Amino acid sequence: METAVQFYDYTRPELVRLLGDWGQPRHVGAQAFRWLYQKRAKSFGEMTDLSKELRQELEGKASLSPLKLHSRQASRDGTVKYLWQLPADVKGQAALVESVLIPMARDEEGEPSRHTACLSTQAGCRMKCSFCATGIPKFQRNLTTAEIVAQILGMEQDSGTSFNNVVVMGMGEPMDNYGNTEKAMRILHDPEGLNLGRRRVTVSTSGLLEHIERFIKDDWPVSLAVSLHSADPEIRSRLMPINRSNPLDKLRKLMRKYTFVRRLPVTLEYILLKDVNDRPEDAEKLAAYCKDLLCKVNLIRYNPVPTLPFDSPGEEAVLAFRDLLKAKGMRVFLRERKGVDIAAACGQLGFENTSKPNYEF
Ligand code: SF4
Repeated sequence: METAVQFYDYTRPELVRLLGDWGQPRHVGAQAFRWLYQKRAKSFGEMTDLSKELRQELEGKASLSPLKLHSRQASRDGTVKYLWQLPADVKGQAALVESVLIPMARDEEGEPSRHTACLSTQAGCRMKCSFCATGIPKFQRNLTTAEIVAQILGMEQDSGTSFNNVVVMGMGEPMDNYGNTEKAMRILHDPEGLNLGRRRVTVSTSGLLEHIERFIKDDWPVSLAVSLHSADPEIRSRLMPINRSNPLDKLRKLMRKYTFVRRLPVTLEYILLKDVNDRPEDAEKLAAYCKDLLCKVNLIRYNPVPTLPFDSPGEEAVLAFRDLLKAKGMRVFLRERKGVDIAAACGQLGFENTSKPNYEF
């Protein structure tokens, strides 16, 4: 039997071409695209300005969301973690992936007025950062464009909220799934898609040099964040094995190129790990690394993963680290902890589906 075409896999120009190949005039593809993202249609039957014959044809040979909601957990702080069942791969293996709804600012009544969606791009991760739960189990596979885009639509549909911001910081290294993630970002950005501006979507990378080079050239319509976690080559290599083949000095050069070409700062993510990268000398090294780099630093308190040998620093050490950077004139933010009680915080995704790491720090 022929596999159904996943509509969320297609950017607007691709959908226009696809429907053109099926004998439809150009405007029909654009109409269908608007139904998907502007009107959030959940079935082809709802697309009432397409002909009845076409709607019937689509029911037979195309499909919408490939995700099935497996379960959801709500945190005391309003964060919601979604666990999605992905369709089985060619070997018949099913995979699970998580995404997170994070309430941000609150209105006068105390209700969340802005929401961020944190999306995943891979089931598992090949980068194996030593502090992160996602890298512990065996890497399963890249997500398709449809599986990335459907996470945001699925969360919206379930929660009844819409998202003002998207961070691609969930499970996986987005640039290791380059083509599918890029297409998903173009759909999010398209004014007739989800219409999210460049500053509203942030893609985070562990620092794959070749991919960042390509990302700059291809001009993804998003902002860039880099997981730095240490400006000391030896410590960073222990935390993030990819640092050995993607060294800090070259990474800095490339980030400078990004800020120059895009006229935007790069965000540096820095997870504070007790007695590993939280000392005054670590802050000094970070400040020196950031000299002449248009950047802002997000400090993140480490979120515990029971099988990993790390701790979060005490509050005093966290504030001292931040203040030292501030005193050097850096733009630095301390990220509020969200969803720790349901293992939905940074570095915790995938933990509940896994056990012990097979590598050591
Ligand atoms: S921190 Fe990111 S890149 Fe590193 S293992 Fe976790 S998901 Fe992968």
